[in-house]
Amino acid sequence: MNVYDAQRMADVLAPEGYAAAAHLEEADLVVLNTCHIRERASEKVFSELGKLRALKAERAKAGQETKIVVAGCVAQAEGAEIFRRQKAVDVVVGPQSYHRLPELLRRAESSRAVLDTDFPAVSKFDHLVAPAPAAIRKRGVTAFVTVQEGCDKFCTFCVVPYTRGAEDSRPVEDIAAEVEMLAAAGVREVNLIGQNVNAYHGQMQGGAAASLAALMARIGSVPGIARIRYTTSHPGDMDASLIRAHRDQPKLMPFLHLPVQSGSNAILARMNRKHTRADYIALAGEIRAARPDIALSSDFIVGFPGETEEDFGATLELIEHIVFASAFSFKYSPRPGTPAAELDDQIPEAVKVERLSRLQTLLDQQRYAFNRKMVGRVLDVLIEKPGRHKGQIAGKSPYLQPVLMDGSAERIGEIVSVEIVSAEGNSLFGRPLPEQPAREALR
Ligand code: SAH
Ligand code: SF4
Repeated sequence: MNVYDAQRMADVLAPEGYAAAAHLEEADLVVLNTCHIRERASEKVFSELGKLRALKAERAKAGQETKIVVAGCVAQAEGAEIFRRQKAVDVVVGPQSYHRLPELLRRAESSRAVLDTDFPAVSKFDHLVAPAPAAIRKRGVTAFVTVQEGCDKFCTFCVVPYTRGAEDSRPVEDIAAEVEMLAAAGVREVNLIGQNVNAYHGQMQGGAAASLAALMARIGSVPGIARIRYTTSHPGDMDASLIRAHRDQPKLMPFLHLPVQSGSNAILARMNRKHTRADYIALAGEIRAARPDIALSSDFIVGFPGETEEDFGATLELIEHIVFASAFSFKYSPRPGTPAAELDDQIPEAVKVERLSRLQTLLDQQRYAFNRKMVGRVLDVLIEKPGRHKGQIAGKSPYLQPVLMDGSAERIGEIVSVEIVSAEGNSLFGRPLPEQPAREALR
């Protein structure tokens, strides 16, 4: 989401004459795009700002001005407090107001400490600025497309409903027009994003609400688009049409990030997740029935207040039962203003550390096993960029695994049949098969 937001800020600033600087030291404007989801991410902002203040002072000695903008969810949550903690900051702007950046920067010419963290009455989607084709090409053959923003779920640990506001979906034809423009500039894969993307209910022509599956059917018809992905989903919003799309929509990739957070019903209830362990297991079963080879991925929180060794054991058991291809896992981090932060049975840090390490050992084993299973198979790989070494190219398998192979950078944007020869850490290594006329027809 923040990568996408950073691109939108660049798009808004481009017509104002701003272009990306090659080095931080050369920048007249520095935008720090921040994350509030866990305390570590939040605190990092202030240490970064300390370094930027020194840079600003250094450049001022040489007669150069540097504007510092703090954007993102820390900006939204902390607001004017940021100016108090770091005087070098010129503008603080929340995620709802990026379209106003040019105006805010103009205001910052005459007065310091310009703040905009309002939740606007009109949809922020109305203010999206289209990227220039050159910017799209620079970003590569896969692109994020925002389709939904905000969250009304209020999981008790989470700041997102407070920083990103209420749920809002973008109309189908606006999204389709953006995807057509992306495809015309060479994009082959779109990743539909939203905090709660499968709650999507954007308007169709005529006014009725479209499901995410209906949106994907529309996007799948855009010439040039070969792959569709979406992230992040809530288990409660995996409706039947979306599950069917995993069977029937050939461009939808067999990978699903479906956060579960915990395997214990008691903890899930205290998290206000609105699903049980059994719900999740049943759902995973339905999705696998629709698309047997699907790679499932998830998010986990360990050490949520009141989590007993037994609760944690239930999470490990759930992982053994489901088997994940990849996952993100976190120690619970109390966030100001969220209900869980007020609970009095907080878990000691040492226990969180120990549980996270056991959890990650299991998840890593599953990921390596999933990757090793690919050896000897032929996978369709979308070539995205040059590889780490000269003469190498890199792309992604349908299951979102990075795949490296020898080949020419001219192949970027092609979907290549690749025989997987080895799996190491997170990456697969393969050999492109020579003849693939059917694939070429896709271009
Ligand atoms: N909308 C998505 C997740 C958004 S936040 C969903 O419902 O699943 C991304 C992940 O950050 C969450 O899935 C959760 O695992 C983690 N996270 C959020 N708040 C957290 C907190 N207070 N402490 C630790 N991890 C947290
Ligand atoms: Fe946060 Fe996701 Fe829960 Fe919304 S559904 S409150 S974004 S964890």
